[in-house]
Amino acid sequence: MNKIYLDYSATSPVDKRVIVAMKPYFSDSFGNASSIHKLGQDAKVALEETRSKIASLINCFASELIFTSSATESNNTVLFGVKSGHIIISGIEHPSISEPTKELEKRGIEVTRIKPNKEGIINPNDVNNNIKSNTVLVSIIHGSNEIGTIQDIAKIGSICRRKKVLFHTDASASLGKIPIDTAKMKIDLLTASSHKIYGPKGIAALYMREGVKINPLIYGGGQEEGLRSSTVNIPLAVGFGKACEIIADNIFTESKRLTQLRDKVISSVLEIKEAHLTGHKTKRLSNHASFWFNDIEGEVLVMELSKRGIYTATGSACASFKIEPSEVLLSIGLNNKEARGSLRVSLGKDTKESDILYFLKVLPKIVSDLRNT
Ligand code: PMP
Repeated sequence: MNKIYLDYSATSPVDKRVIVAMKPYFSDSFGNASSIHKLGQDAKVALEETRSKIASLINCFASELIFTSSATESNNTVLFGVKSGHIIISGIEHPSISEPTKELEKRGIEVTRIKPNKEGIINPNDVNNNIKSNTVLVSIIHGSNEIGTIQDIAKIGSICRRKKVLFHTDASASLGKIPIDTAKMKIDLLTASSHKIYGPKGIAALYMREGVKINPLIYGGGQEEGLRSSTVNIPLAVGFGKACEIIADNIFTESKRLTQLRDKVISSVLEIKEAHLTGHKTKRLSNHASFWFNDIEGEVLVMELSKRGIYTATGSACASFKIEPSEVLLSIGLNNKEARGSLRVSLGKDTKESDILYFLKVLPKIVSDLRNT
């Protein structure tokens, strides 16, 4: 049977070159980077080299990056690092931002959620107009994992810098797909994930601009400048650095290739009766196409595609065991029923035109059969 993976926004396969780079750090160069003996110091050198590789992908200093176990942890570190005041987020954040803010509200922190327009775009003026004297943090997702839209991060960044409010962006879905320059975009804090860019799972980074101070989420031995205690996982960190190095080499050519395939998916799927695009048509991640269909249950559609060897997602893949419709889809104006009919198709390095053509061949019939049952 065909095996066509169209769920790169959920995760990606680890690049073979990444595995090769990681290998020596499991049982040869296995030291603890905090140990002062040679084995420890070798690990420390590897750790600092890999930090530099990640830093060059987002134009920051290596010293401004800390390693965490996941994008979820990086996001939680930012939000729980703030102890009082007012926080602004958007209505289309990943649950690793939106859920912690619900907990923060219980602890007395005030949260404003900026509504996107129907295409999932946040108006920077809305951010500006919602900043108050007690606002301590603005966190707006860069590229949406669910609807693909890309926000004007540079504009929001300059508003926050002018108003002296910390600005965080979750770049888990956009890293390696669009160039990111933390200096030019005036970003104070940024979440970067490894497993969406052909690196291993279980490792991520948090960029914190020099001078920015937040409280740690995890206390202990004081690793990572005291911000993230625990022995750093060197093999995974090395893998993340290698993945950044590889993706930096072909960010423009790959993005161009994927945009063409993505647009073919979008135009062809929209020929199906009562199929609708979610997110913006062009201001979207190069590898991301997302839709909703009238009178279709997204989960059933995904399962039918899976039976034919095509792997896609509905709603937010990370939350697909939830019965409730995705908050992101509701926030762009879909009702519960419409939101449950969503399909996300996300492409990556192994996606070929023939895969897309096969998907586009089988989808219309599945949709029509499901509507007739
Ligand atoms: N933010 C975004 C935008 C994501 O797409 C994801 C993963 N789906 C996360 C955060 C959380 O990543 P993880 O599950 O690896 O912690």
